[in-house]
Amino acid sequence: MRPQILFSLFTPITTLPGIGPRNAKLLERLAGSIVVDLLWLLPRDIVDRRYMPLIRDASAERIATLKVTVSTHIPSSNKRHPYRILCRDDSGEMTLVFFHARSDYLKRTLPEGEIKIISGRLERFRGDLQMTHPDYIVDPEDIASVLRVEPVYPLTAAISPKTLTRAIQFALDKTGDLPEWIDSAFLQQRQWPDWKSALLSAHAPDDIAALSPVSDARSRLAYDELLANQLALGLMRESQRVQSGRKNKGDGTLREKVQRALPFTLTDCQEQVITEIDEDMASEGRMLRLLQGDVGSGKTVVALFMMLNGVASGGQAAIMAPTEILARQHLATITTLTSDADMTVMLLTGRDRGTARSKKLAMLASGDVDIIIGTHALFQDDVVFLDLRAAVIDEQHRFGVHQRLMLSRKGDGVDTLVMTATPIPRSLMLTAFGDLDVSRLTQKPPGRTPVVTRIMPLDRHGDVIDALDRALKADAKIYWVCPLVEESETLDLAAAEERFTELNTRFNGIVALAHGRMKHVEKDEAVSRFSDGDARILVATTVIEVGVDVPDATVMVIEHAERFGLAQLHQLRGRIGRGEQASTCLLLYGQPLTETAQARLKIIRETEDGFQIAEEDLKIRGAGEMLGTRQSGMPQFKVADIAFHGDLLATARNDAKLIINRDPDLKSPRGEALRVLLYLFGRDAAVLNLRSG
Ligand code: ADP
Ligand code: MG
Repeated sequence: MRPQILFSLFTPITTLPGIGPRNAKLLERLAGSIVVDLLWLLPRDIVDRRYMPLIRDASAERIATLKVTVSTHIPSSNKRHPYRILCRDDSGEMTLVFFHARSDYLKRTLPEGEIKIISGRLERFRGDLQMTHPDYIVDPEDIASVLRVEPVYPLTAAISPKTLTRAIQFALDKTGDLPEWIDSAFLQQRQWPDWKSALLSAHAPDDIAALSPVSDARSRLAYDELLANQLALGLMRESQRVQSGRKNKGDGTLREKVQRALPFTLTDCQEQVITEIDEDMASEGRMLRLLQGDVGSGKTVVALFMMLNGVASGGQAAIMAPTEILARQHLATITTLTSDADMTVMLLTGRDRGTARSKKLAMLASGDVDIIIGTHALFQDDVVFLDLRAAVIDEQHRFGVHQRLMLSRKGDGVDTLVMTATPIPRSLMLTAFGDLDVSRLTQKPPGRTPVVTRIMPLDRHGDVIDALDRALKADAKIYWVCPLVEESETLDLAAAEERFTELNTRFNGIVALAHGRMKHVEKDEAVSRFSDGDARILVATTVIEVGVDVPDATVMVIEHAERFGLAQLHQLRGRIGRGEQASTCLLLYGQPLTETAQARLKIIRETEDGFQIAEEDLKIRGAGEMLGTRQSGMPQFKVADIAFHGDLLATARNDAKLIINRDPDLKSPRGEALRVLLYLFGRDAAVLNLRSG
């Protein structure tokens, strides 16, 4: 279990003084709900209050701390005028300015004749030096609490900087010394501080340089995080490897029947990947393989062939999709392709309830079901297989490592295939998957035409509508993707609904609307109206990102494209260009466009190669643009940033390997310390996987 030494950090933030339910909610959004989450919220700027001039010498427009004598209060004559307080030192006079002030409060805090320390931004107004609403007003003996460099934390609109800083300070106070988990030679070579010193110094930057991701303190903390990540992945991989696998291999009869039902021939690339999978599954060991392939590269049929190996060896297979829409699509495809193969294929989603669900579960447990297709619902404890041999996790980035294991634990030595359409740069691959076997579909099925991508400002809306009108006359099917407003799902919806109404009015009721807040039934209905029904335009939020397959859709409009991540734009665009007709993607952007946003849109316009887009994305994000990364599905590091810490990642990876070789159960003193590290970063599952957890 979690070491005692960490208990104080793993309590709810509401245990911190000054954090009630309201602030807790705000903080939770910013950092997380437990005390330890606050530790990783590092300052993004500083305020230097050490500038302490005489009034006469003070320069305006900067933060300063002054020692003044309060001379005269000048209450405001009416509500629009500020309350002013004249102050002086030996060199001159200045004014403190307060709007909407409570005079009793000011009289108490700044009594005439007393000496006070004030700190805040100085301004010059009609030649006079003044300070509006000082940040600090303290007695001279408390000057040390003011005269320093203050960290500035990232903020949400609604939480006050003081509350946040205080909460973080309390969190730091709860932090004890932890045993050293970094190899001592390496630590010495880098000259890094120990964990606690690094943490404290990262929170107390005394100049701008200390904010750099490659400062000693931050490098150390980043390394800790990367090491926890690599070690956790390595341990999981190890525990999978030691469980022996089973030889899963069919005699080819089933596969032949399915192959006959295929409306196309497999590409060379698909053939090759299937061979890799066959060999892996037929071996003694257990397969844990990642299949990477762009949207539309034909992963589904590969997954089906993989599952057939499990079924043909007398077992069962499962495929899990991240959304209900996608699960249903798999059901349709797989049912059709297996219609002559005498197999039972079943769907299980969150919508199955009561006796219908019990019936399905009974069939699964008795082995009457060969392939089950489902959503998260498959994870539930009462979902039991007679003999699960092959598991597929589709579009894996929506699921965590932990969840991947949950499905393959439902059988014995289950061969597992994890599929993703997110093209992932090699460095990020490592952080997400460690050393996983990888197969790649680099070729697209034949008969595709490249998508023409155009970029234009939002204010050419009228032209866009005219273009759609022409496209519709040529019988096109059109996706209209609505912008993502990070802060508010309600705003997302409002935007989507408004666009829907506008287009539906303009184009006489041939528009369908799908968004994440709809009931499943409604959403499916909307999508099928678009795929097989009367709708020619589908207005959607990013629910269409994952998996909706309407091959004859040829136009996509993306509103506020600058708000999406590159990977996401790439995935969205992958919904079109699936057939033989030419396709067009219109990226509409709002102005002003930042340089970074401009660069990103340019990449999307210039290439459809997912791997290239991913590499470029990583480079650009290194420039500090973080918008959209939350949607990219890659692990979110708290301190580490691969753009800066790529070399540390490589080191952490080697380090983790070495540790697992030498001390696979983490029993040595360093091993014990590493357990603390894993818990510190919430990698509990990795520790529980140890043979002597
Ligand atoms: P993804 O990799 O995005 O999951 P899918 O498996 O959904 O891609 O395949 C996309 C489309 O390509 C489907 O309509 C599928 O039937 C078709 N497809 C797959 N393989 C081939 C092939 N070898 N030749 C022609 N079409 C193919
Ligand atoms: Mg797919």
